[in-house]
Amino acid sequence: MIQQIAFSVVLLVAGFFLRQRILFIRNTIRLGKENTITDRPGDRWQNVLLVAFGQKKMFKRPLPALLHFFIYGGFLIINLEVLEFVIDGLAGTHRIFAPWLGPVYPLLMNLFEFLAVAVMTACVLFLLRRFVLKLPRFWSAEMTAWPRLDAALILVTEIILMWAILFMNASDQLLQGQHEHYTATGRLFFSSFLMPVLNGTEVSSLVMIERFCWWFHIVGILGFSVYITYSKHLHIFLAFPNTYYARLEPKGYIQNMPVVTREVRSMLGLEASTAPSGEPGRFGAKDINDLTWNTLLSAYACTECGRCTSECPANQTGKKLSPRKIMMDVRDRMEEVGKRIKRGEPGFEDGKSLLGNYVTKEEINACTSCNACVEACPVMISPLDIILEMRRYVAMEESGSPAQWNSMFQNIETNFAPWKFPAADRFNWSKENS
Ligand code: SF4
Ligand code: SF4
Repeated sequence: MIQQIAFSVVLLVAGFFLRQRILFIRNTIRLGKENTITDRPGDRWQNVLLVAFGQKKMFKRPLPALLHFFIYGGFLIINLEVLEFVIDGLAGTHRIFAPWLGPVYPLLMNLFEFLAVAVMTACVLFLLRRFVLKLPRFWSAEMTAWPRLDAALILVTEIILMWAILFMNASDQLLQGQHEHYTATGRLFFSSFLMPVLNGTEVSSLVMIERFCWWFHIVGILGFSVYITYSKHLHIFLAFPNTYYARLEPKGYIQNMPVVTREVRSMLGLEASTAPSGEPGRFGAKDINDLTWNTLLSAYACTECGRCTSECPANQTGKKLSPRKIMMDVRDRMEEVGKRIKRGEPGFEDGKSLLGNYVTKEEINACTSCNACVEACPVMISPLDIILEMRRYVAMEESGSPAQWNSMFQNIETNFAPWKFPAADRFNWSKENS
């Protein structure tokens, strides 16, 4: 009974913190601009199934993709066992599904154990790749102490949690037949290799080991579920809505502002001039509330994998730009504003903004708009959209683009081409040669 009460308290506390954090994230995403996305639901679901669930884009690099698939699949499937943990914890039962599922139960448990071993192997290899091989994309400038620690914490925690499952099963198997509380599960392949380590241990000590591992695993899982809402591992959940709401237009398509498009069309005589209805709003993006809500969602879905940065030609040629940093900056600014609002302070009136305090003009001006980052991203994020919106702000609100660009803009405005010659002179070359 004491265990049941303790478990209920742990569950309630974890549920409370999880709910608080989910509400915070939802409210922070809602700081973004309205954007109604209802088109092409079939294509959107296809993206969810292939890109988020099937991890299609990850498989461009098969080995890391397979290891990642083990971690991700293992995490999702092993957590089915958590359902049994929760029911057992609340009802005071032990392995409540075993009698119901009969011979299927040991099969499931063996599958979970296989996945536990696969998850551990993948986590160890990922740790080696990050901290021994020191893959450059995990050590670039924006990967400061916290993102590196975050990645290590998650991988190490997963390894420990998997060990806890295996030791719990090993002690459980030894207790079956010696203690009436322990239901027969049949032989569990992987954990049976740990049984010799525990052989000869007294029943009371085995019960303690089994209970410790059970509590460690469930408290670890609950703590983990709260922790990932503060971590890049939020992508485990948000990759799904992000792929659903990702842009479906061809890469390179630039979203125009309708008010500007109308004005240009009327200048060109393609449309009758209409009086502007109301304020046109800010051109481009200076802060996070100038970006759409789904762009803000994508910042929370970013895995910090750095594939975008490693493909970015600007970054490769030593420019200051890193598309991953752009996504991390958006998320950091969202957290900053969200926390201020939560404390009852005016969120945006802190004298700061995304552009200027987080992202510099030097960074956004270095972008070649090549879309390599968009193509590389495994969860369909577009750092380029954010860069273009900030550039639009600088160009249209501040007239702050580099001088060379301004003369090009002026030429486009007056000559409808980037060159300084008027449209009427375009065919002069043919006269000179005739
Ligand atoms: S679009 Fe810009 S940020 Fe993205 S890869 Fe190309 S240069 Fe880099
Ligand atoms: S934007 Fe995409 S590719 Fe870049 S770090 Fe985030 S998840 Fe990885």
